[in-house]
Amino acid sequence: MKINILLKYLPKILIEYVLFHEMVHLIERKHNEQFWRIISRKFEDYEALEKDLFNHGFLIQKSGP
Ligand SMILES: [Zn+2]
Repeated sequence: MKINILLKYLPKILIEYVLFHEMVHLIERKHNEQFWRIISRKFEDYEALEKDLFNHGFLIQKSGP
């Protein structure tokens, strides 16, 4: 996913999460176990955050394999 200008309308925690998510993709391209392990080190409740993003119309999980 490209960092979208609409990001600025998201709650700060979600912006931080999206940026981190995209950063982790630089290390691990796919949404595999390793990917979510790195994510969960910083965002334990990433599943809830993904859900929040979905509710805001963001589907970053979709950009995976
Ligand atoms: Zn992703």
